[in-house]
Amino acid sequence: MNRRVLLLGGVAEALRIARQLGPQHVYSLAGIGRVPDDLACQVRVGGFGGAEGLAEYLHSEGIDLLIDATHPYAAQISANAARAATLAGIPCWALRRPAWEAQPGDDWHDVHDWAGLIEAVRPFRRPLFTLGREPLQHLDEIPPGQFWTLRALDACPGNERCEVIGARGPFLLEDERALFERRQIDVLISKNSGSGATEPKLQVARERGIPVLILARPPLPDVDRQFPDPASLLAALSAEHLL
Ligand code: NAP
Repeated sequence: MNRRVLLLGGVAEALRIARQLGPQHVYSLAGIGRVPDDLACQVRVGGFGGAEGLAEYLHSEGIDLLIDATHPYAAQISANAARAATLAGIPCWALRRPAWEAQPGDDWHDVHDWAGLIEAVRPFRRPLFTLGREPLQHLDEIPPGQFWTLRALDACPGNERCEVIGARGPFLLEDERALFERRQIDVLISKNSGSGATEPKLQVARERGIPVLILARPPLPDVDRQFPDPASLLAALSAEHLL
């Protein structure tokens, strides 16, 4: 009988893996981004109802291997995946992108939560937030004298002291340079996603001598096997005769 893989996705590398999966396998998305309609594998959308719901799905669908290829900051689904695989008695593999490393001359500071971030931003006037939607909840807390630039996947209204830019990567170095210049950015706020698609902003901060406040990565659970990139994970799937 054909063994089945459930691939949890939501980032570009997961889609690269999904494109190689045959029709017995399933690619799962949370439902906040685009849903591809040109894959050979099955595609399902939406949550499972926690670790127990996911374990039930693994069991009822006869899944033999769970692969967590979600974003490094999507900690809840990663925790659910590890727990559900244990409950279902199947292995869990994960795609875990290496984090970006500061280079000589970089002025990077780790922050651990929103309160720490706001404190660290206080001395600056023109921060660029590239954290997704969370800062949108705090637009009425912008201190006097600060002018925020906030980039998220989708455009939405800002206010007189915050411009919200809706944009999806990959971002080009020239465009990032133009954005920092146009908005006179004096501090960059970022997750450490480790993705090449969003890395040029770090080079622009380096070129301009601007500090970077990095929201620390959340802890992720141990899994049976971990891979740094799609190629190594696909090679392992091929070795297991799952491609
Ligand atoms: P999260 O907090 O870890 O997950 C929240 C809930 O969303 C999960 O408990 C699960 O619901 C559902 N979910 C997440 N990924 C799923 C998937 N691939 N298939 C089915 N259900 C899924 O995740 P998040 O940070 O909100 O991110 C949501 C999705 O966006 C993730 O798939 C992630 O890969 C992608 N993404 C996240 C970021 C980021 O910065 N966080 C950036 C780019 C892309 P149930 O408990 O009901 O199963």
